[in-house]
Amino acid sequence: MSYLLVCQEWDRLCVNHMIRQRTGYNVAESANTKSKPIAATSTMKKIMADHFLGLDRARKEGTEKIAWCTSVGPAELLHAMGFEVYFPENHAAMLGATRMATDLIPAANAMGYSPDICSYLTADIGSYVKGVTPLTKAYGIERVPKADVLVYNTNQCRDVQDWFAYYAREWNVPLVGIHTHRNIKAVEDYHISDLVSQIKDMIPVLETVSGNRFDMERLREVVGLSLECTKLWREVLECGAAIPAPLTFFDATIHMGPAVVLRGLPQAVDYYRLLLEELRQRIKHNVPAIDEETHRIYWDGMPIWGKLRDLSAQFASLKTNVVASTYCNSWIFDAFDPACPFESMARAYTELFIVRDDSFKEAYMETWIKRFSIDGIIFHDAKTCPNNSNSRYMMPQRMRDKMRLPVLVVNGDLNDLRCYSEEQARTNIEAFVEQLDEKVR
Ligand code: SF4
Repeated sequence: MSYLLVCQEWDRLCVNHMIRQRTGYNVAESANTKSKPIAATSTMKKIMADHFLGLDRARKEGTEKIAWCTSVGPAELLHAMGFEVYFPENHAAMLGATRMATDLIPAANAMGYSPDICSYLTADIGSYVKGVTPLTKAYGIERVPKADVLVYNTNQCRDVQDWFAYYAREWNVPLVGIHTHRNIKAVEDYHISDLVSQIKDMIPVLETVSGNRFDMERLREVVGLSLECTKLWREVLECGAAIPAPLTFFDATIHMGPAVVLRGLPQAVDYYRLLLEELRQRIKHNVPAIDEETHRIYWDGMPIWGKLRDLSAQFASLKTNVVASTYCNSWIFDAFDPACPFESMARAYTELFIVRDDSFKEAYMETWIKRFSIDGIIFHDAKTCPNNSNSRYMMPQRMRDKMRLPVLVVNGDLNDLRCYSEEQARTNIEAFVEQLDEKVR
């Protein structure tokens, strides 16, 4: 596994770093290695548990129909039609975070799913064929809820369509989806009108499966709740601009759970009000997420789910806070508008970072980097997710030159830890932070 540090002083820093290691200097031992726990976490755990237990009840009792939805699929429409909505990407991230994924991916590979495609897909299908799920240990749930309908949006990638197609064949249930224009600079009216037609075309199928008639007023209500949720989530993330920051990227990857699976429901709105209040209190009383915050990093790309805890501890030990990220921002949807639900849903699903071309992405990152007083950028090149890996077409070099900031590319993966060399990653991150240290000296 190779790592690329995009900076002129990299070699010299690596040598310095090795000398320090040989002479016994160890940053990790000299500093606190934990970020401060967030009190709202216990509430979040409860509402996430209620979400999964509600789905399990629906599965067992057949009271409500279950729709599977991709992370930025038309969840608003599904809630409005009375479905219980399940997000397999969230389940796949749990497989990664619990480190079950690496053992399960080969089962999907053996079926014919390449090790090079999305490791969310391969981990999730692997877990299904092996009959295991992290939901069992977390909530006593035996298996994931079987879908009555599968609904995707290709705004993020084609893999979600193929992922859902597996289950559609397996269970002989309808598969419907939206095909979004991708790699676009500006969002044009024809993108929106096309998507609105595609969303509306799904309604007859959803009416048949759910047994409910489409209700425009109910859709407005759900879109209004999604709007409130997304505004609060944005405010939560923007707390990271404070110096010192009251939360870390690693906190945010956990606390984004309700924004992912409960978007459009009042529980998410209530939760983010609670979390925001706590973070504002931290800012008011100057309580940092990590002790002695010295450097502030922007993280682009997917989390490495199975190494979240280790990376969080390493950055804290280096007095470095990852204060902003592309990934957590992916659940900010400014466009939602209950006055025009279909158009605003189409716009919200298309305005996403992942849908856009590099010129848009670079301008977007520049805004956040300036606003969050960032002094270094890390790109995670996830082996099995080219869609969330922005380091493959020279963006790190362009951002380094434009922002005059050190940039590091870490090769790894979201779920498949066979693609991640921990030793090399740790060494490169430490050397990267040493470079930041030299800048402030
Ligand atoms: S965007 Fe990447 S991680 Fe997400 S489903 Fe697609 S390939 Fe997988």
